Amino acid sequence: MTAAPKAVWAAFRSEVIRVADDYYRILGVERTAGTAEIKKAYRHLARKYHPDVNNGDPHAEAKFKQISEAYAVLCDPHKRRQYDLRGSAAVDTFFRDGFPDIFEIFESAFGGMPFGHQRTQRRGQSLRVEVEVTLEEVLTGATKEVEYTRIGICEHCAGTGAEPGSQVRRCPTCGGSGQVRQHRHTFMGTLTTIGTCPECGGQGEVVEEVCQECEGQGVIRQQQQLSVEIPPGIETGRELIVEGAGNSIPGGGSGDLYVRVRVAAHDVFERHGQDLETELTVSFPQVALGDTIEIPTLDSKAQLKIPPGTQSGAQMRLRSQGLPSLGGGRRGDLLVTIQVATPIRLTQRQKELLTEFARETGKTISPKEGFLGRMKDALGGG
Ligand SMILES: [Zn+2]
Ligand SMILES: [Zn+2]
Repeated sequence: MTAAPKAVWAAFRSEVIRVADDYYRILGVERTAGTAEIKKAYRHLARKYHPDVNNGDPHAEAKFKQISEAYAVLCDPHKRRQYDLRGSAAVDTFFRDGFPDIFEIFESAFGGMPFGHQRTQRRGQSLRVEVEVTLEEVLTGATKEVEYTRIGICEHCAGTGAEPGSQVRRCPTCGGSGQVRQHRHTFMGTLTTIGTCPECGGQGEVVEEVCQECEGQGVIRQQQQLSVEIPPGIETGRELIVEGAGNSIPGGGSGDLYVRVRVAAHDVFERHGQDLETELTVSFPQVALGDTIEIPTLDSKAQLKIPPGTQSGAQMRLRSQGLPSLGGGRRGDLLVTIQVATPIRLTQRQKELLTEFARETGKTISPKEGFLGRMKDALGGG
């Protein structure tokens, strides 16, 4: 377990970038749009939000990432079909399999090479993790620890792949050119081909002693822990980007970490946007005569006033006892649905009172009790 120095992680910017994403909406195209139309929409938005024309404005950059991701999926017929069928579940798979670099996506849309054909990758892969929060945490916001595995630069050799202190020298096989001539003898004579040097992999240099930690790879798989600030009002499906916390590649940048939020179900409250809903069971006299009851709210208690004559199923509204809007705006309401419980296992006295109550309201009641009552019923008696 390699714990990254706190100072490094503190430098990461994290921000909320989206609602459970609809790629079509992000690009502003119909679900039936053809590839050419999707490309056109992306190019238009990419020109507007490219980081180079927005002076590093983080909002524009987040937007640029979002449209690039949407385009990378929708312009690929296979990915688009997966996305149409499985929605964001498919996106998880795309991320797991590695997502193209956003600048790579940009270049390909403007006539560069298609994805994955660039000779050098400039950034490591982006990764995705999921974090669960409670409704109480949605109310206040929270700091959550996430733990995940990433490929990081080997600290022992600083990504060079050479054991510290060992010399880097010119490759003896290719003489530093990175290429080797291969001779093949055929019936037509000797054929000479030029290929990448197998000894140095085309680098032209070899290290005397490879790094013991990473076996010369320059990178190492590491368990990473990091704290993520979850803003109040967050919803399931929203994501936070922690920039540079994805995989690293030697001599290149790091991908990002996408933290997908899931809000856990609550025992008492059900969420509807910013409002919370709950049920409260009360007795018949309470609704008939009216009452004031103390009920739990998400973060405290409140007095709920039940007016006389309240019907079962009535909904009472407690203002500002719901959830804040994203980032901590005004709170929604708490809606309490009243359920009237019918009393069971009555005492003799209670039965007398209810019978009298019924008589007072002009109703005759003929309770059929026990075995005898059922016998009477069966025989058609009354
Ligand atoms: Zn190393
Ligand atoms: Zn070589």
